[in-house]
Amino acid sequence: MAKSTDFRYNTGATRVPWPAVGENYNKEDLMAIIRFLMKGEGEEYENAIAAVEAQVEKLDKIATPPGKLSLGPQVEAAEALCDEYLETTGSTFVANATAGFEIAYKYANLQAGDEVIVPAITFIATMAYPLSVGAKLVFADIDPMTCNMDPKDVEKKITAKTKMIVPVHIGGYPCDMDAIMEIAKKNNILVLEDAAHAFGALYKGKKIGTIGDFGAYSFHEVKNCTSFGEGGIVTTNVEAFRPFMKRARFFGCNFDTPIHNWLYDVNAMPGKYGPFVALNSSTTEIQGLGLKLQVERYDKILAERKAAAEYITKRLKGIPGVNPQDTENPDVVPTYHLYLLTIDPEIVGGNVQTLKQKLTEKGVTNIPHFGPLYHFDVLKTFGYDKEAIAKTCPVCEEVFNNRFTHLPVYGLSGEQLEYMCDAIIEAVEEMKQGK
Ligand SMILES: *Cc1c(COP(=O)(O)O)cnc(C)c1O
Repeated sequence: MAKSTDFRYNTGATRVPWPAVGENYNKEDLMAIIRFLMKGEGEEYENAIAAVEAQVEKLDKIATPPGKLSLGPQVEAAEALCDEYLETTGSTFVANATAGFEIAYKYANLQAGDEVIVPAITFIATMAYPLSVGAKLVFADIDPMTCNMDPKDVEKKITAKTKMIVPVHIGGYPCDMDAIMEIAKKNNILVLEDAAHAFGALYKGKKIGTIGDFGAYSFHEVKNCTSFGEGGIVTTNVEAFRPFMKRARFFGCNFDTPIHNWLYDVNAMPGKYGPFVALNSSTTEIQGLGLKLQVERYDKILAERKAAAEYITKRLKGIPGVNPQDTENPDVVPTYHLYLLTIDPEIVGGNVQTLKQKLTEKGVTNIPHFGPLYHFDVLKTFGYDKEAIAKTCPVCEEVFNNRFTHLPVYGLSGEQLEYMCDAIIEAVEEMKQGK
């Protein structure tokens, strides 16, 4: 694939370069950014800041500003690193995972009358685009042990109108992709992987997010790694579309070669069933740099999450009625974005709502978690009947109301992890005694 050379700007050493950047950032701005990223107060802090400031003054006399702030070499470097990490090509850095989903949905020429199968439990981002164009959302029930979509239920809900299946690897635990891909292939349906939580997860040795026709990862601030708060990577397995991915991020503009009278060209993007118009989900060079820095240390981040998850599993294993997250399935390597805990209310003598109430009382933050999206008001507004849908997702209803919660696995000290596990064990014990 030809790398974009963007003939419009000349930021090099000509007599009169045409700079890509309007107003540049200056030394005062840089100091504000340092104060923002490294907060503090007091004399020692102010002294350190003053020392940095003195050096920045010197630097300012000899340094040059970046020639580009949007979609430049930093974004390209982050994409190259993601290609390497994900063992794919054409990784495209976009504003967020939702923008990546949008490209995939547009490739499918999704419109009113089409159906999209999504899991009953996810975040609204998975389904906002189909909803926004009037496509019909069909909710697949979940597997009670993983809270991921149950392929058997997906198969039952396929109709002649089904255009896409969107597996969500919730909490970073991989879906059963072989089963989903087989159903999709048999029915000529596109698969978009919502890998928002699953950057780096593996399914049978393959990187999650690179198995379906499209996949998108999120680098929003709460995810496993971030590009200064917002960002996403979208990938594709559709060979014919791969060369268009980066143009699909910016209106389909083609800056590689000028056309008549120094004009650039804009192309319609080739969708599966016809052309589509691309929108703008560009990212900044600062985001590109931020993503590269965090992906470079991502193995360490994943190792820390894994160690915390294994500790929780070790503590909770063997307690009757408590099911720790499966950390031993040889087919999958999760990212432990979240830790999935389920309980058996019959044995524990109460449901997960009671358990969470007790945890809150013990000072373990009540974790707001993912739930059945057909309960949201926005769906009612667009004519969805939540009672009727709930009847088609009985496992989801039971698991959501009575059995599951996610637990945090990152950024906790050893002592905090220990306290959280103690609190769970104590709470379950109390429930068993009817307290
Ligand atoms: C965070 C999240 C998204 C959206 O990611 P953005 O980068 O914020 O668009 C999609 N799906 C799930 C399950 C998420 O948790």
